[in-house]
Amino acid sequence: MNRKNNSILLTDAAKRAARYLDELQQRRASPDMSMLSGLQFFEKTLPADGLAAEDVLAELDQHGSPATMANAGGRYFGFVIGGSLPAALAANMLAGAWDQNAGLAITSPVAAKLEEVASGWLVDVLRLPGSTACGFVSGDTMANFCALAAARHALLMREGWNVAEDGLYGAPEITVIVGGEVHVSIQKVLVMLGLGRRRVVTVPVDSQGRMHVDALPEISGPTIICTQAGNVNTGSFDPVGEICERVKGSGAWVHVDAAFGLWARTSEQLAPLAAGIEQADSWATDGHKWLNVPYDSGVVFTRDPEALPAALSAQAAYLVQSEQREPWQYTPELSRRARGVEIWAALRSLGRKGLAEMIERNCAQARRFAAGLRDAGYEVLNDVVLNQVLVSFGDDAITRRVVQRIQEDGTCWVGGTVWQGRTAMRISVSSWATTDDDVDASLAAMRRAAAAVLTTP
Ligand SMILES: *Cc1c(COP(=O)(O)O)cnc(C)c1O
Repeated sequence: MNRKNNSILLTDAAKRAARYLDELQQRRASPDMSMLSGLQFFEKTLPADGLAAEDVLAELDQHGSPATMANAGGRYFGFVIGGSLPAALAANMLAGAWDQNAGLAITSPVAAKLEEVASGWLVDVLRLPGSTACGFVSGDTMANFCALAAARHALLMREGWNVAEDGLYGAPEITVIVGGEVHVSIQKVLVMLGLGRRRVVTVPVDSQGRMHVDALPEISGPTIICTQAGNVNTGSFDPVGEICERVKGSGAWVHVDAAFGLWARTSEQLAPLAAGIEQADSWATDGHKWLNVPYDSGVVFTRDPEALPAALSAQAAYLVQSEQREPWQYTPELSRRARGVEIWAALRSLGRKGLAEMIERNCAQARRFAAGLRDAGYEVLNDVVLNQVLVSFGDDAITRRVVQRIQEDGTCWVGGTVWQGRTAMRISVSSWATTDDDVDASLAAMRRAAAAVLTTP
């Protein structure tokens, strides 16, 4: 093996990647059986002899590329999955060549610098308090984990208990309050932090999934309130500002799970949805959803800049602590990839205006979906306030059949869900790559599928 052929190999990789993306608009949004059949190729034991790098790449492209979901294209509306902005993808490829260990400033000056800059830019565009510090993690689940670890540590310190040194055995109890629509990732985090999934106090929610502020219990003792900005089904926001006002002075730690909803803060038009969110103590969001950077990328923010290092930092003589921000003091990981690079590149390429426009465009496209489906006589189950649309085509069985037919058709991809007891088709518009033409072509496919199901008993 040598590096002489790097240029040929990496040009080949770039060419294949570009061809993949070019062909995506003409391709199905999900692979059909024939496109998946190439996966069988990979089912073999590891041969004794290696293979030339260009042949490895060719195997991947030939058999792997067809078996992908086309969420890098414009007609994928499943879950909440963004694409990759061109600048972010290109930065990712370059950063792959850099192969930086972003754990410490000394292991990667450029990663440490870009995280610091991206951190400031994010706090600014998301209109969070100036003091806010952040950590770059794999996604919103880990961002929630870090935020609640910081909350746990801070609340117990106030009770005179150092959980970092003494653990949870015998510690004062922490009350955790969640909404009835709490995301499953928070439940996972409560398990990992020893706070327990079943010990939570659950506040009832309204028809859009928002917590009823009046139903918040009296706060007594150390308390974490997990709010949500951007419900995965409806896109609705808990009234975080009102909740913060109500518990002010109680010492409760208010966390906001804002995996995609936080990006509403970048737009004047949408910001009212997230009014008062800046009063919370911590926030978690994803880069790989609405900022449209490649997987995996999430960010945790805490108002108290010391809260993350207090809960997550560690020391060892060989791991040099410099004068500057040390990335690993803000995350569970030590060695990791340089996620700040793509976040920096995405923000730099969009600018403030471009970022707000991308978020607003997706929301307008969600409204376009809702209007098109309503006009066709189908029921939209949610108030379309953000990028999420829930649709019923009739009874639960009919809606399920329509979703299946849309998936089989392949023009676009949408998933199903159950919203407050009713089966629904779920549309999430989260990609920079989605055009209004993509929406119209997808609407036509949805209407075709619904008509076909409704005329065949
Ligand atoms: C997507 C999402 C999560 C989980 O985020 P990951 O990046 O998949 O870990 C958590 N909460 C909400 C509200 C989400 O939308």
